[in-house]
Amino acid sequence: MKTIKVHERDNVAIPVEAAPKGTVLEGGLVLREDIPQGHKIALRDLAEGEAVVRYGVTLGYLLKAVPAGGLINEHTLKAAPTPELDGMAWGTDIRTDLPAAPVATFDGYPVPGERFAGTRNILGIMTTVQCVSGVLNVALARMKAELLPRYPHVDDIVALNHDYGCGVAIDAREAHIPIRGLRNLMRNPNFGGQIMLVGLGCEKLTPDKLLGPDELNADNVLILQDHKGFHAMTAALMDMAEKKLEVLEARRRETLPLSALCVGMQCGGSDAFSGITANPAAGYASDLLVGAGATVMFSEVTEVRDGVHLLAARCTEEATAKKLAAEMRWYDEYLAEGGVDRSANPTPGNKKGGLANIIEKAMGSIAKSGRAPIVEVLSPGEKPTRSGLVFAATPASDYVCGTMQLASGIGVQVFMTGRGTPYGLAPIPVIKVCSRSDMKDLWADLIDVDAGRIATGDATIEELGTELFRDIVDAASGRKKPWAEQYRLYNDLCVFNPAPIT
Ligand code: CA
Repeated sequence: MKTIKVHERDNVAIPVEAAPKGTVLEGGLVLREDIPQGHKIALRDLAEGEAVVRYGVTLGYLLKAVPAGGLINEHTLKAAPTPELDGMAWGTDIRTDLPAAPVATFDGYPVPGERFAGTRNILGIMTTVQCVSGVLNVALARMKAELLPRYPHVDDIVALNHDYGCGVAIDAREAHIPIRGLRNLMRNPNFGGQIMLVGLGCEKLTPDKLLGPDELNADNVLILQDHKGFHAMTAALMDMAEKKLEVLEARRRETLPLSALCVGMQCGGSDAFSGITANPAAGYASDLLVGAGATVMFSEVTEVRDGVHLLAARCTEEATAKKLAAEMRWYDEYLAEGGVDRSANPTPGNKKGGLANIIEKAMGSIAKSGRAPIVEVLSPGEKPTRSGLVFAATPASDYVCGTMQLASGIGVQVFMTGRGTPYGLAPIPVIKVCSRSDMKDLWADLIDVDAGRIATGDATIEELGTELFRDIVDAASGRKKPWAEQYRLYNDLCVFNPAPIT
């Protein structure tokens, strides 16, 4: 039976299927016991206390000796200590030999004054408070029915509803995080620089916190309390939307260098195959994109924390490594204030699927960042200032990560999943990649790319990564619509708010 070993230094591997005791693996190794799908076996005799190495890093130390062909799981392993944040070595693993991309351009919508181009042409309507959403949603339905058909070059109208704004401690220490998130979210390149902000009139999140002085006017801001009743409100909303649609209608796609594209990577519902199929394929696609000048961001602080030293080694500057450490420390303290730590992250499903601990999960998660150097680290919702691979610190929660990456300017998100999710984001295309072929069989019309072919030997990481790269460029260029976009499966936007609500 075929086994998968990730790194040359690994002393464990994973059989591609569940296998009974006595099974002979490729290379002649015989299984000493029954091995569930996705679980690790020792490739040689390992002594008590010996390090178990997967992805080239130590997952932990053996609580008892395990012979070659024996099972290693969370019960036989003492987790390796958490990497220290102080004094991490940086710049010691800078790869310049990134693979060459098959194409260097895409067809996007340029945005004046912005680095990144849009991948869709959408009117995004931001709100300052949840109270206005009922009225806005009624108006939105009318806009889509009555206005949108008259603007054939506009793809959609999206209400950027969120639950921040009312009763929030607006001067709290961390309030700048949700405020920055919302401010940048409404400036995602898919909205073409058009501002339409709907407020109630008494909320803490006042329009001046989201707009600059030159933007703060009646052309861009509509306050419901200034209007005489529901019908006047909806008429005013329709009127403002129409003016914005007239401007957006003039946008056209242009062939642009990939440096105008920003792609987000995320995973959710991971299993033991995520780290050997879907995430490495995404990592290879990321390397192709970065090599061609694009910006790629990956996130999910709790899922990289145990591999932070590996990321620091890939930082091109000391200041970048220091910001990486600062973001990790901030999140350690944020979790500690809630009485938990990141070991709360792995789920029973993760463990059943063969992930022994958060370290192993983190190594699989990091694989989606490929091998490119890290040129910048962003606080939640910040916009990148450099091209290349960027770590954008966000929670791992799927829709919070998605919302904050949207704020950071992504035009496409690639979402790797083991267990499956119908996840989607209204403002951008989301390409879903599954880690196992049986997931694709189950959800053939929800999963876009089957990375399980890597486990079965039907494709290499490089082949699948190149295919995914082409899918990303095609989705960005509007030539392909992922399933979630075709069916309009859109999650709510959820801005990260670590600050108190009063
Ligand atoms: Ca996630």
